[in-house]
Amino acid sequence: MIVTGNIKKVREMSNAPIGKSRAVGFVPTMGALHQGHLSLVKRAKKECDFVVVSIFINPIQFGPKEDLQCYPRNFKKDIQLLKKEGVDLVFSPKIKQMYSNNFSIFVDEIELSQALCGRARPGHFKGVATVVTKLFNIVRPDIAYFGQKDYQQALVIKRMVRDLNFPVKIKVLPTVREKDNLAMSSRNIYLKPKARQDSLCLYQALDLAKKLIEKGQRRPKIVLEKMREVITSKSLAKIDYIAIVDAENLRELKVIKGKALIALAVYIDSIRLIDNAILNIK
Ligand code: AMP
Repeated sequence: MIVTGNIKKVREMSNAPIGKSRAVGFVPTMGALHQGHLSLVKRAKKECDFVVVSIFINPIQFGPKEDLQCYPRNFKKDIQLLKKEGVDLVFSPKIKQMYSNNFSIFVDEIELSQALCGRARPGHFKGVATVVTKLFNIVRPDIAYFGQKDYQQALVIKRMVRDLNFPVKIKVLPTVREKDNLAMSSRNIYLKPKARQDSLCLYQALDLAKKLIEKGQRRPKIVLEKMREVITSKSLAKIDYIAIVDAENLRELKVIKGKALIALAVYIDSIRLIDNAILNIK
């Protein structure tokens, strides 16, 4: 496995014509890897001939008051894990390799990015779309893998690929959870025992919503109220947002129907966690 921050080297390796056709799979990450990331890597290994993983904590997707400085980092262990999975190439550039001092071009998706996490984190998806554009241009993958845990991110990337004609297929894989159903996240390691306990309220709220909807409830207001009750019963939880939206355009639903996304972001003892569920209502 080659580990490099050198853009030219990645280009040469990732695009080298070996044999007639070779599918390049790509998993972009910010490191501090867990089984959620590895599920994407495993799928890429299954479906592609050459697998590239990037580890890059992208500063431009963090707001000024966010946790860029203390975002978890565990490079050595990440490399061990990726080696074990049989990854071919790890791209881990330094910030200055990705952003020159007078960097001045950004990719801004202006519709889907306004909702949910975009409203709570202005500029976040602009940072994401910009770095993914750069990574796609460097790696030039055939297939790129993203997690449903960051549903809105995957949707923005799909839109970007469609609107800007990137020759890449985007695959979105299910959220990997801990045994007690907390969605795996690099940030989970910061949860102290009581916070870890309270963090279960995200899944509990989603589960309750699913049950209410399965039983026939179609009014978002009622479902959201019940979800709010679950979350506010935890002393360390503070809701950032909870929403029930159309899963294709992220617009709020007046009546729950079709492909619906229930999404939430909750601060647990000041650590921001997100989770979501997709329902197909006949
Ligand atoms: P991150 O390192 O947080 O930027 O995540 C890199 C990729 O891993 C993104 O496509 C995420 O959606 C995906 N990912 C993160 N957590 C999970 C999870 N629990 N299950 C599946 N995919 C995940």
